[in-house]
Amino acid sequence: MLELLFDGGFLEALDGKIFSSPLDTPLRSVTMNEEISVHLKEAPKVPSCPIRVLWVGAGGLGCTTALVMAKSAHLLPFSIEGLVVDDDVVSAENLHRQWLYQEEDIGQSKAPLFAKRVEEIAASKGMRWKIRWLQARVLPENALSLIESCDLVIEGADNFATKFLVADAARLAKKPVVHAGVVRWFGYALASGPEGKPCLRCLFEDIPRGRPDTCAISGVVGPLVALVGALQTKLAIELAMGIGGSTYIHLDALRGGSIRRRPLRLREDCPGCAPNPKITSIREELYLPPCEDWSG
Ligand SMILES: [Zn+2]
Repeated sequence: MLELLFDGGFLEALDGKIFSSPLDTPLRSVTMNEEISVHLKEAPKVPSCPIRVLWVGAGGLGCTTALVMAKSAHLLPFSIEGLVVDDDVVSAENLHRQWLYQEEDIGQSKAPLFAKRVEEIAASKGMRWKIRWLQARVLPENALSLIESCDLVIEGADNFATKFLVADAARLAKKPVVHAGVVRWFGYALASGPEGKPCLRCLFEDIPRGRPDTCAISGVVGPLVALVGALQTKLAIELAMGIGGSTYIHLDALRGGSIRRRPLRLREDCPGCAPNPKITSIREELYLPPCEDWSG
C-alpha cells in the first residue's frame, strides 16, 4: 500500500484507476499532466514559478504530504520553494507515522530534518527544491505574515486552535489552504481555495467545547495518516495547479474504509465567510483554550 502511495502510483490508487493492466508488470508512473488530461480533457495550467508551500506542522500529515510530493517531484509540472514551521522534536512513539525521521533522529528538532530530507528526496528525482524551516509555532502574532508570504498552505497541526487560526489567516490573506486531521479511525481532508473560503468554520464553526478529540488524547491509527495525507496531497496539488475547488473528504475506516468526497459549501452565517463577517482580524482570544482540560 505504502509503496503504491509513495511511488508515483498514489494518483491512480486514489482514483481507483490503474494505468497499466497486467498485474505482473510494474505500474507505470503517470505525469500530473496525463492525470489531469484523463479527468478534465484539457491541459492543466503549468505554474511558471516555483510554488511557495507553507507546511504548518512536521508531524504525520506534514511528513506524508511532503514525502509524496517529493517522491513525485519529477512528475509534477511545478517545483516547490517550501517553508516548514514546527517546534517539536522527533519522538520514538511517532516514528511509525512520521516517515521522514529515523531512530537516530530521536530528540532532534523536526523542522530542520524535515527540510533536509524533503530537499534530498526531491534531488534524488532530479529536482532542486529549496525548503526553509522555522522552529516555532504558528501563533496569532505570526500567522498572517507567514501565510501572506506563501502560495499554498498545507495544515497538519495536532490541535484545534492552530487549525482555526490557520483557516482564519488564510481567508484574510486570500490564500488556498488544505487542512487535514486524523483521530482514531477517522480522518478528513478539507480544501479551501483559492481565496481561503469556504473555510474550516463553514463546516466546523469553532474550537470544540469540552474535552477535545485530538490524536494526542484519543490516539490515531498510524496507517490512516498515510491515507489521509495522500488525500490531502491530492487536494494540495489540485489547488497548486488552479484546478481544485473547495472540497471536503471524510474517511471512516470502521465502515469499510469508506471515503466520501463532496464540495465544501459556503455557510451564510459563517463568522469568517458571511457577507458581514464577525472575524475581520486575528485576535488571540479567538484561539484560547475553551476550558481547563483542553491541552491540544
Ligand atoms: Zn467560512
